[in-house]
Amino acid sequence: MKKRIAILGSTGSVGRQALDVAAAHPERFEVVALAASQPSNAFLEQLRCWRPALAAVASGIPDRGMIADGLLVGEEALTRLAAACEADLVVVAVPGRVGLLPTLAALESGKTVALANKESLVMAGHLVMAAARARGVAVLPVDSEHNAIWQCLRGEGAPDAPAAEVASLILTASGGAFRDLPLAALSRVTPAEALRHPTWTMGPKITVDSATLMNKGLELIEASWLFGVPLERMQVVMHRESIVHSLVEFVDGSLKAQLAVPDMRLPIQYALSYPERWPCPVPRLDLARLGALRFGEVDRQRFRCMYVALDAARAGGTYPAALSGADDEAVRLFLAGALPFDRIADVVEAVVQRHRPESDASLAAVLAADAWARATCRELVCQRAASGVA
Ligand code: MG
Repeated sequence: MKKRIAILGSTGSVGRQALDVAAAHPERFEVVALAASQPSNAFLEQLRCWRPALAAVASGIPDRGMIADGLLVGEEALTRLAAACEADLVVVAVPGRVGLLPTLAALESGKTVALANKESLVMAGHLVMAAARARGVAVLPVDSEHNAIWQCLRGEGAPDAPAAEVASLILTASGGAFRDLPLAALSRVTPAEALRHPTWTMGPKITVDSATLMNKGLELIEASWLFGVPLERMQVVMHRESIVHSLVEFVDGSLKAQLAVPDMRLPIQYALSYPERWPCPVPRLDLARLGALRFGEVDRQRFRCMYVALDAARAGGTYPAALSGADDEAVRLFLAGALPFDRIADVVEAVVQRHRPESDASLAAVLAADAWARATCRELVCQRAASGVA
């Protein structure tokens, strides 16, 4: 029987590659629902090609003569689609906070989620994992580091307590676009330079987050929810080649790592094929040609954002949602030329420090913290610009 899949964010980098995986295995998948932020030509072409039973766009009125039936339009369209689609697996590949409600809706309606959206877990990991537990469905990680850890953990420990045999999770970080730039030059880097990642091709927000290493901070939070391992038992190691995608250290001192060329098709396919493994069209790793793999420590000064994220994670509650909102806004302002690259950490930290958390991190409180953090971030950046210190 074919696995029925829905893809939210089908025109983005992960969404398109998920459709490539489905196209490469037509006998195994049926695409039953597709959703995108806008009715772009690329999305309309996907609808023509895949003819899903259900489709959704968050905004914009699609061309007349497209599919009239089964097209949801509007702010809540993705969430409605996630709840209503008849899928075995929902791939959530929309970027940013808009991924949270559809992720919850998919889980609450009893569907397994292949999660490529970090913000869902960063903002509301407690709600997402509780929703999955309540319906007995899984959250399968698509993010390459988490996908690697998931692969390393297979077959380890008792199914209900794999964390007991885990000494630590070790996430690798490439260091992004400016890993070799002198610190003094970071104030002058342009958005175009920040968007040139040395090893991965990804969306703009995550590429800038990779250059500040905020991305790794968010991934530590993501990992703690996915694998139930506390932050104290996680490490980050710099690894320039992006070949070792992450590692697990066990209580006996053994390390298991997952290695492959940096190509998102592999983790995406693994999340889609699980619990099976299938051939994948990515180039094979040639270790002899590769010669050497390098590892090193994280430079605390260069990558302060990761430590700001860790502080927010330790504070818990609505702090990570405030962190996520502040960073999203700070990156947007940087890309718009309104904030220097090397001030992103300052601004995000200032927002997190001003946050006054709600006592219970309900969904409403999480969304409010995110909205408050965006507004506060904009205010701080405006103030800095006005006082000439930006
Ligand atoms: Mg990653």
